[in-house]
Amino acid sequence: MSIRDPFKLELARKYLLDFKICRRCGARNPPKAVKCRKCRSKNLRPKKRRLAGH
Ligand SMILES: [Zn+2]
Repeated sequence: MSIRDPFKLELARKYLLDFKICRRCGARNPPKAVKCRKCRSKNLRPKKRRLAGH
């Protein structure tokens, strides 16, 4: 039995594929983050990944 919840799927996709990388320490941050959660630097770069094979 597999349950495919579109809402959770969308959340997971956003969480896994869209995030920001800190240029200072390299930590992953949420896409909406303004500051790095680890070192609090504002030097973040957006990272957008695509699904494999796409
Ligand atoms: Zn950082």
